[in-house]
Amino acid sequence: MSAAPSSSQRFGRFALADGRRVFAALEAGRALLLDAAPWRGGAPTGEALDAVDAEGNPAPGSGARRLAPVDPAKILCVGRNYKAHASELGNEVPPEPLLFLKPSSAILDPDGAIELPPRSISERVDHEAEVGVIIGKRARRVRREDAATHIFGFTLVGDITARDLQKKDGQWTRAKGMDTFCPVGPIVVAGLAAQALVITCHVNGQQRQHGTTADMIVSIAELIAYASQVMTLEVGDLLVTGTPSGVGPLAAGDALEIAVAEIGTLRASVVASP
Ligand code: ZN
Repeated sequence: MSAAPSSSQRFGRFALADGRRVFAALEAGRALLLDAAPWRGGAPTGEALDAVDAEGNPAPGSGARRLAPVDPAKILCVGRNYKAHASELGNEVPPEPLLFLKPSSAILDPDGAIELPPRSISERVDHEAEVGVIIGKRARRVRREDAATHIFGFTLVGDITARDLQKKDGQWTRAKGMDTFCPVGPIVVAGLAAQALVITCHVNGQQRQHGTTADMIVSIAELIAYASQVMTLEVGDLLVTGTPSGVGPLAAGDALEIAVAEIGTLRASVVASP
């Protein structure tokens, strides 16, 4: 259950029994359906799902299912943003933030299945547990001291990476852009102090990664300011802030859990290419 302070607001997204896909505000054990994403000014429609927990799990039998709680035009990521992670892969800390994009087609819903590519394409797919930031106000050439006002809230992201292709291709589109390589969720939390969030990654119950956002080389505010010098960050865009050390391979049958206490636990299974 949630350890979030009462000042924070929690949002999920659901596929309903009637086929609609809706955002919702999570309050007092209910999901209050919204007419748009909360970062686009979504207002309550008056409908609600009852018996929804703090991580957005609907009651069994409701016919509702959690979706990735985002709708980004782009997913902008930063590589090597924790010193210990750069070192573990034998890389230097880059002199400037190392930006790359993942396509929105890679997004995977909570409790979804990460599909490993055929071994003829990649033999090494890694987990990277990361904090995601949802942009709440359009950002173009913003100053670092103003950057926080462009944050709507936070979620969890798996920056799933075909490590062998990352090295082989020289750029990262294929390695990080495959379908299912971007699990997001379980919910978005607004009003969170993100300076020292502890993020963990477990595979089959064993801890693989443990870090704190306090150890980021480039802070979230610096990232927003830096990125917005070269591209406009649109409302709803997802900024993925880098992974702490401990990345490692995934195999078919694995159960992946990425967690921050204030947000919840993002779960995914791993399956071989169908
Ligand atoms: Zn990453």
